[in-house]
Amino acid sequence: MESKICGPRSALLDSLTWLEYAFQPAGLPAPEAAAYGHQRHSARVVLSGQNRPPKSCESDGVIAEDNRPVAVYTADCLPVLFADPVQQQVAAIHAGLNGTLSGILQSALDALLARGASIDTLCVAIGPAIGPCCYELGEDRIRQMQQRSDLPPLQWTHQQPVNPQAVRAQAQAQQQGAWFSLPGLARSILLERGLGPAQIDAVNVCTYCMAEAGSSYRRNTHFSSGYQSRFSWIRRR
Ligand SMILES: [Zn+2]
Repeated sequence: MESKICGPRSALLDSLTWLEYAFQPAGLPAPEAAAYGHQRHSARVVLSGQNRPPKSCESDGVIAEDNRPVAVYTADCLPVLFADPVQQQVAAIHAGLNGTLSGILQSALDALLARGASIDTLCVAIGPAIGPCCYELGEDRIRQMQQRSDLPPLQWTHQQPVNPQAVRAQAQAQQQGAWFSLPGLARSILLERGLGPAQIDAVNVCTYCMAEAGSSYRRNTHFSSGYQSRFSWIRRR
């Protein structure tokens, strides 16, 4: 299985020898026997048995009950992989903007802690997703979010950040709005819940301007360029 793993790596997850994982390139099939939900941008996290076979129920996060993989599929949303070294538990979470605002990351944390994980040792890897270099929201949307007292300070700029690692053109401004960091919001929520900075790793790959062609739903919207889902998965060995 190891030889087939490709896609960006997380040094943090690579340091955990009891697990394996991948942020697969867009278009590759899910690994055999993977459990994943019918994703709805919700805050619902379930155990793997509830989504085997895949899409048996609606969920945006799956916690593994055995050593078979749990997975999520994404385009521009965040795939977030959790690893709990105490109980050797793993989880795969689909965290788009709406799911993140609905509390999917907190749901995943609560479920893992209830099953014996420790907030001091949990490890989290944030995978490829649309970056602040290409993710423009209307300022009204930012204002709505800023009115929520339960959210950490938002990371956004009026000026589009230049991504020196872009391999194709960054998104062009369409709304004269705000360039928003969804990975930054996920990180802030995890930090606020008590994880340390060293417990959170981000691969910093923007699906719009850096990842392999066909990764980005938003780029497809702009150019009718086509896109395919990316499966991200994790499993205990
Ligand atoms: Zn980008």
